[in-house]
Amino acid sequence: MGIHGNATCEMNLVGASGWMVGEPNKGLNAMFIMMNAARIGVGMQSVGLMDVAYQNSLAYARDRLQSRALTGAKAPDKAADPIIVHPDVRRMLLTQKAWAEGSRCFAYWLALQVDVAHSHPDEAQRKAANDLLALLTPVVKAFITDNAFTTTNMALQVYGGHGYIREWGIEQHVRDARINMIYEGTNTIQSLDLLGRKVLGDSGAKLRAFGEMIKAFVEEEGTNDAMADFVNPLADLGEKVTKLSMEIGMKAFQNPDEAGAAAVDYLRIVGHLVYSYFWARMARVALARIEADGDKVEPFYTAKLATARFYFAKLQPETASLIQSARSGSGTLMALPAELF
Ligand SMILES: Cc1cc2nc3c(=O)[nH]c(=O)nc-3n(C[C@H](O)[C@H](O)[C@H](O)COP(=O)(O)OP(=O)(O)OC[C@H]3O[C@@H](n4cnc5c(N)ncnc54)[C@H](O)[C@@H]3O)c2cc1C
Repeated sequence: MGIHGNATCEMNLVGASGWMVGEPNKGLNAMFIMMNAARIGVGMQSVGLMDVAYQNSLAYARDRLQSRALTGAKAPDKAADPIIVHPDVRRMLLTQKAWAEGSRCFAYWLALQVDVAHSHPDEAQRKAANDLLALLTPVVKAFITDNAFTTTNMALQVYGGHGYIREWGIEQHVRDARINMIYEGTNTIQSLDLLGRKVLGDSGAKLRAFGEMIKAFVEEEGTNDAMADFVNPLADLGEKVTKLSMEIGMKAFQNPDEAGAAAVDYLRIVGHLVYSYFWARMARVALARIEADGDKVEPFYTAKLATARFYFAKLQPETASLIQSARSGSGTLMALPAELF
C-alpha cells in the first residue's frame, strides 16, 4: 500500500543455520530493547510525515483560489479568494500544525530521556528516565501514528480532488502513514501494553511519577492568569486520568476484558494528557517572549501561542467523549455471540 522506497518482502529461512546471539533465554529481553527503540523511531517517522504533509497543504491552501470569504472578498483583484480564508480549511491546517508540533515536542523530549537513562551520572535520574520511557513509549508509538494518519488525511482533504490523484504527491503520505499504526506492534497492542503492563502492572507508580511533573508545573503556573487557559484544562484532565485509571483497574481485576475494552480509548486520553502538558509548556515560553519583546516578537511565538489555544479549544475536548466511551465497559462489545456478527 505504501513505503514503496522500502524493499518489503517475506523471508523464509528454510534449512538455514542459526547462531545464538547473547545469552540463552534472554532473547525476548533483547528483542524488547530493539523494539522500544524502533517504536520511538516509528513515532518520529510519523512526525516527519505530518510535517511534510502540513507544509505542502499549507502552500496549496495559500495558492488555490476557490469561492469568496464569508466575510467578503479578501483578494478582490483575483477571480476568487485563496482557500486559506475559509474557516474549515483553517481548522484542517491548524489540526495538522497542532498535531505535528505537539508530536515533535513530545518525541524530542522522550528521545532526551533515552540519553538521560543511558548517560546520567545519578542512578536515581537514570531510573526516573527509564520509567518515563517505559510508560510513554507506547504513547509515542500509537498516539503520534494515529494522529499522523488523521493529519496526512486532512492534508489530502485540503487539496480536494487534487489530493486523491497521484500527480500532487499528497496521497503517498496517507499511504505511508498508514503502516506506522500497524508495524512494530499494532496500536491496539501498544494500548494494552500501556494500560495492562505500564499502568495497572505497577499499580500506577510510573503514571504517578509523570503526574508529579504535571502537578509541579500546575503549581508553578497556578497563579499566573495568562496561563489559566492552559493550566486549568491540564490539571482537570490529570485528575480525570487518575480517577479513570483506578476505576478501570478495579473493573479489570474482576474481568480482564474490561481492560481490553477500555485500552484504546485510554491510550488516547493519556496521549492528550501528555500533549496538554507540552502545549502548556510551549504556551508559557511563547507568552514570556511576547511579553518581553512586544511588537517586535518573532512571528514564530505568536503562531505557537495561537496553535496552543487551538489545541485546547478544538482538539483536547475530545477527551470528554473518550472518557465516556472508556467508562462504558466491555458489556456492549462482548454481548454479541461471534456467529451473530
Ligand atoms: C510493510 C510491512 C513491513 C514489516 N516489516 C517487518 C519487519 O521488518 N520485521 C518483522 O518482524 N515484522 C515486520 N512486519 C510485520 C508487522 O510487525 C506485523 O504485521 C504487525 O506487528 C501486526 O502483526 P500481524 O500482522 O500478525 O497482525 P495480527 O497479530 O494478526 O493482528 C490482526 C489484528 O488483530 C488485532 N489483535 C491481535 N491480537 C490482539 C489482542 N490480543 N487484543 C486485541 N487486538 C488484537 C491487531 O491489533 C490487529 O488489528 C511488517 C509488516 C508490514 C505490513
